[in-house]
Amino acid sequence: MTPLTESENALATALQLAVEREELRLAYQPKLSLRTGCVGSVEALARWDRGEGEPVEPSLFIPIAERAGIIDALTGWALRSALRQWVAWRDQGVTIGIAVNVSAVSLRDLEFPDFLQRLCHLEGVPPDQVTVELTESATQHVIRLLDTLTRFRIKGIKVALDDFGTGFSSLLQLRQLPFTELKIDQHFIRDLATAEDLRLIVKSVIDLAHALGLIAVAEGVEDAETLKLLGELGCDEVQGFFIAKPMAPGDLVPWMLETAARWPEICTRSSRLAS
Ligand code: C2E
Ligand code: MG
Ligand code: MG
Repeated sequence: MTPLTESENALATALQLAVEREELRLAYQPKLSLRTGCVGSVEALARWDRGEGEPVEPSLFIPIAERAGIIDALTGWALRSALRQWVAWRDQGVTIGIAVNVSAVSLRDLEFPDFLQRLCHLEGVPPDQVTVELTESATQHVIRLLDTLTRFRIKGIKVALDDFGTGFSSLLQLRQLPFTELKIDQHFIRDLATAEDLRLIVKSVIDLAHALGLIAVAEGVEDAETLKLLGELGCDEVQGFFIAKPMAPGDLVPWMLETAARWPEICTRSSRLAS
């Protein structure tokens, strides 16, 4: 890894402090199942509102956390917070799966699946409610990843390959590694309604996911036309601003209730809440 510049170093120091002081927060974005019409799970996304200034984007601070050796602390914080939030929602009558982004750097540690299992036990969350979202990384060795991902699966924890189509992953790796979910990167989804070639690619990726026994999730759905097309292409789940932007945890249950009223064909879990 390239050494940090002076300004990156300053950011890393501030980030380390923010992680230690638990000043980061998680926003949650629903994944909607096109099969059941239900919101089956939510993805936790880290947010850092640095002091009075502009929020720092995860695409900036996550790579710095990886390079500065802070990522394990950040991952630990994100997992603990997300698991506690799962319990808080369950206590309100909403049982909803939770997905957490985990850097491939953290997965180099073969003990990581045990750590996550212990955390689930400690917080009282069934491991099958948890999905680890893994972004492709060129530095990752497949054999090592195979061991770690297999350990997750043995414990019932699900594993998603995030941003599919943008990174290094080969079809061979898709076959070798025990993923449960394939998330098609938003670059393929954005222009789906206008580009015939993208529709062919996305259809092939969905079929490929199904042939390998994975569920296909489309990221970055921003309009009704794209949502409809993805349904026709056989996509299992969708996520994007058209369904919901990442939101504060307290907004999720009200959003579900409001969505159920506005969009009755979507059987959000809130129907149970309302009854
Ligand atoms: P990701 O996991 O692929 O998350 C999806 C990103 O796309 C999120 O950006 C989300 O806000 C954004 N997004 C969702 N729907 C739409 C849409 O319809 N249109 C557009 N234009 N964007 C949409 P965000 O939150 O800025 O996160 C960026 C990336 O940072 C994430 O990509 C993930 O790789 C990483 N990240 C975020 N939180 C964490 C974390 O806690 N740990 C780790 N290791 N990585 C994280
Ligand atoms: Mg993700
Ligand atoms: Mg993604």
